[in-house]
Amino acid sequence: MRIATYWWGGRRHVGRVSPDGRSVTPLALADDRTDRSRESGALSLIEWLADGRPLPPASGAALPLSAVKLDAPLPRPRRNIFCAGLNYRAHAKEWAASGIEGPRSAPSPDAEHPVIFSKVPECVIAPGEAIRLPGAVSSAVDYEAELAVVIGKGGRAISRSRALEHVFGYTAFNDVTARDVQKRHKQFLLGKSIDTFGPMGPWIVTPDEFDASATRVRCWVNDELRQEASTRDLIFDVPALIESISAAVSLVPGDVIATGTPGGVGIGFDPPKFLKSGDRVRIEIDGIGVLENPVR
Ligand code: MG
Repeated sequence: MRIATYWWGGRRHVGRVSPDGRSVTPLALADDRTDRSRESGALSLIEWLADGRPLPPASGAALPLSAVKLDAPLPRPRRNIFCAGLNYRAHAKEWAASGIEGPRSAPSPDAEHPVIFSKVPECVIAPGEAIRLPGAVSSAVDYEAELAVVIGKGGRAISRSRALEHVFGYTAFNDVTARDVQKRHKQFLLGKSIDTFGPMGPWIVTPDEFDASATRVRCWVNDELRQEASTRDLIFDVPALIESISAAVSLVPGDVIATGTPGGVGIGFDPPKFLKSGDRVRIEIDGIGVLENPVR
């Protein structure tokens, strides 16, 4: 099943996308009168199901997808987005070659622990919404196409073998990054969390329809294919990331884990190819769909 958050009739709704991808049917979820529930999007459904309730019934007729405006499936995640860094060898290699972290070397292929950082929830934007260049703060804004996992059932110390039981679904994510800010402040948080630096969508696909262990992730800037990889090449796969993160922090329904980006980011080119106003970044993950955002 594909779950979308969308705007229609001046309100946010959560609905089920039809198998042919042409229409969406709203689901009858709890009231949307509070600010919290208005912002939560698909989180309200994830929490509903985590409480052991069945999928809610339709609350209205199906609408053509072309008649609604898609929002990020989780327009405002309940807390910071967990992100894996340097999780594809080709990207770890280009990162080390860029020299941004000085002599510190990229993790070796036999590293025991993933690099984990986070982005603030307020950076999330919808498909089609503009990634805004932050003016004087950065002149080195980069794209990072990523598969993101959405947690359905919380837990602590989740083992790799049971990790997929905790997954609600998957979506596409662009871990937009200001490389100069990232470098200046040593830690990733600021350079990764700038307003609009978290495009997410177009919807969440549940695991019964999607195999995260072997799917293609691609990214175009305008018409140039910059990134192409299979999630088979992840150094730490989805179960390993869930095991690592939950060993330290209890995961809760609605948590998002971005799994890391393949090789081919802007800073990996010589000279670097950073984003500029007028560019379009298009991410496509086979089995999920397309997430495209203009740059302004
Ligand atoms: Mg990333």
